[in-house]
Amino acid sequence: MKKPSLDIETEYDPESRYVHMEHIKPEFWKHKKLEDMSKEEWELLCDGCGKCCLNKLEIKGKIKFTNTYCRFLNCQSCLCKIYAHRFEAVPDCRDIDLRAVREKPRWLPKTCAYWLLDNGYDLPSWHPLVSGRAETVHTSGNSLRGRELVNETEVKDYEDYLVDWQDL
Ligand code: SF4
Ligand code: SF4
Repeated sequence: MKKPSLDIETEYDPESRYVHMEHIKPEFWKHKKLEDMSKEEWELLCDGCGKCCLNKLEIKGKIKFTNTYCRFLNCQSCLCKIYAHRFEAVPDCRDIDLRAVREKPRWLPKTCAYWLLDNGYDLPSWHPLVSGRAETVHTSGNSLRGRELVNETEVKDYEDYLVDWQDL
């Protein structure tokens, strides 16, 4: 297995994403469709909530979330511990591309910036691109930080962990 190029636990500061934004058009998400965004703009849209790393079940044609999380998620930072090689380590880890955003049934949380924009909504005030700070996704209660969560390695039956949180 390849080593990750970055130790996300110690070297990556999410706030650094929003420091040098001079070359990014202000409020670009209001003027462009998802399919027209640059790679950098696309990456900036991710609010870092971590909710797409919860395990889910498809029941009667709908995606139901559990409060169990991928073993590689850091529940405090809500960052993937193996971001650089996540697809090799976790075969069902999904890339967030346009197809994923438009997939039915919906499996991204209702607060996911990609899903919001693609469905005609604006970004919420707590989104880091609006607030200018990565931390606001956590302080506003919109990330996984501080929630009652169970590591998937401790789970026998995912059906025992279904949750009905408003923001999923
Ligand atoms: S749910 Fe969406 S906004 Fe939140 S971490 Fe996943 S891709 Fe990013
Ligand atoms: S491997 Fe994929 S699902 Fe697991 S924490 Fe990383 S990004 Fe999330």
